[in-house]
Amino acid sequence: MSDLTPAAATPPAKPQPRITDCAAPYWQHAKDEKLVLPYCGQCDASFYYPRLWCPTCFNQDISWKQLSGKGTVYSYSVIYQSPLPSYQADLPYVLAIIELDEGPRMMANVLNCDVDKVRVDMAVEVLFETRGDMKIPQFQPA
Ligand SMILES: [Zn+2]
Repeated sequence: MSDLTPAAATPPAKPQPRITDCAAPYWQHAKDEKLVLPYCGQCDASFYYPRLWCPTCFNQDISWKQLSGKGTVYSYSVIYQSPLPSYQADLPYVLAIIELDEGPRMMANVLNCDVDKVRVDMAVEVLFETRGDMKIPQFQPA
């Protein structure tokens, strides 16, 4: 007698970001669970996303600076449907724009929180989601 019950399907792994040369330090620090962003000394400001020049003054003498990892939800959406099988188990989940205390805004998921509890201006802090051999900066209620 054969068992015709289908095996529980293992969802495919979530996609990993493609690492560009100018973003490599960002991802390397994330592996160490540090939120480190490019910094422009002329503007005295960090910025996101990593790029070869400051988006405000076009200065190309960029350094890197660790941020507090604290911020607030600037805007968000609750995702109830995903075309990607690798995200089905997470539904519903929150995709948000986080305004870091130091100024830059970045897109991330808000984890470890009921989706109905997320609000604009809610205080959040960074955490790092392990994805393969990478760690992805995400946020949770502070
Ligand atoms: Zn600048």
